[in-house]
Amino acid sequence: MQQVRFEPTFEGWRNAARESLARGLPPEALSWVELTSPQSALDLTSANESHKAAATSSQFRIPRTYIEIAKTVALHSSPRRWALLYHVLWRLTHGESKLLEVPVDPDVIELMQLESAVKKDAYRMRAFVRFRGTRLGEEPWFVAWYEPEHDTLALNQKFFAERFANMRWSILTPARCMHWDGTVITFSPGARKVHAPAGDGVEQLWVEYYSHIFNPARIKPAAMQAQLLKRNWKNLPEAAVIEPLLREAPRRTAAMIARSEFLRVRETDYGLAQPPVGADLQELRSAAAGCRACPLWKTATCTVFGEGPRDAHIVLVGEQPGDGEDRAGKPFVGPAGQVLNDALAQAGIDRRVLYVTNAVKHFKFEPRGKRRMHMTPAQQEIAACRPWLEAELRLLEPSLIVALGATAARSILQTPVRVTQERGRVLKSEFGSTLVTLHPSALLRLPPDKDFRAELDAFVADLRKVRAAA
Ligand code: SF4
Repeated sequence: MQQVRFEPTFEGWRNAARESLARGLPPEALSWVELTSPQSALDLTSANESHKAAATSSQFRIPRTYIEIAKTVALHSSPRRWALLYHVLWRLTHGESKLLEVPVDPDVIELMQLESAVKKDAYRMRAFVRFRGTRLGEEPWFVAWYEPEHDTLALNQKFFAERFANMRWSILTPARCMHWDGTVITFSPGARKVHAPAGDGVEQLWVEYYSHIFNPARIKPAAMQAQLLKRNWKNLPEAAVIEPLLREAPRRTAAMIARSEFLRVRETDYGLAQPPVGADLQELRSAAAGCRACPLWKTATCTVFGEGPRDAHIVLVGEQPGDGEDRAGKPFVGPAGQVLNDALAQAGIDRRVLYVTNAVKHFKFEPRGKRRMHMTPAQQEIAACRPWLEAELRLLEPSLIVALGATAARSILQTPVRVTQERGRVLKSEFGSTLVTLHPSALLRLPPDKDFRAELDAFVADLRKVRAAA
């Protein structure tokens, strides 16, 4: 195996990767060796020069999207990222130029997971950096200590320069530090926590402010701690006051609910869907197209009703249509649908014999820029929409229902279901036997420490039980 010695930055890796591509070296022939220590400084210079010289002769067309993703993935802390980046690059330049458009490809999924982890880490830093006031000579200066999981400091430079444009500040991290003097951003080598000031009057002000705005109904300590790595939690000034505030939370929540108008107002927005009695599937579909039983119809494009043969023995029930389904007006045609199709094929099930539908028939989302991000339907929306699902199931009388995910399972079984505990089991519902498994979109949102192939195999194993049970 040939060693590729390179500077562990995007630019260093890119030059080395171009050289390897130009030499026709396949991914399995290479091992990627980061040159980082002071002793390797000489190596580093000569490696950079040699990679650059070779790289200039390379003529590959690399998709721009890939380059953007690669720049972000290069900031991840996983030592595997370099080999993965090259593996994907090799495939893109060797007959698979559309690879990034295949969301169910294991390499693409892993790449996206790393990209997403870096972006989340950058977002966490924006939310949880806390400056403490000090002085640099005569100048007031604000310093924050932060421990990112990945090398996300530079990703946030524009954000911090704009947000704190009128302050002079430094953000210290173990890998490197970023400084703003009111005009330009500069970087310096990493620091230690002792280099940051311990506390100041600004911090006390912040703790008082936090106590004042604390909303007990919205606080989720587990979610906060999941967002914020443990090592950063201890650096938050407000962390010290959260526990006492939480002890008071039930009383304050009750008081908020008692004086709240919004609950009463919202209740009037929800009714129950009213399917026509004795209708066939086509009549149900037409009636559902005009449903206004909950507010979700207002922002979605259309009602996405179930689809499949009238004599289907198996009915698959998902949560709600996604972005692609909302545009197409058909269930399971987006990325989650592709995962489902792939898993069904592996389990030996022909999708054309299945009836496929959702617990909620309209797409719930929040706009983020030009994108529409999935939101989990609320319990009132699931309840409002259940009569449609009930009408479908009563009409079809399937021998087996497959609940894909917690929302579908809850709607069918009328009780909260822990999918991780119940998956693969056949439970009794008022509509008959119901097998519970994951929603395929869960495979597209796996955390980086989960192996996509293993999770897909487990999903396929559940679907094989479907075949056996049906
Ligand atoms: S989500 Fe269901 S209940 Fe709500 S408007 Fe759409 S079809 Fe009706």
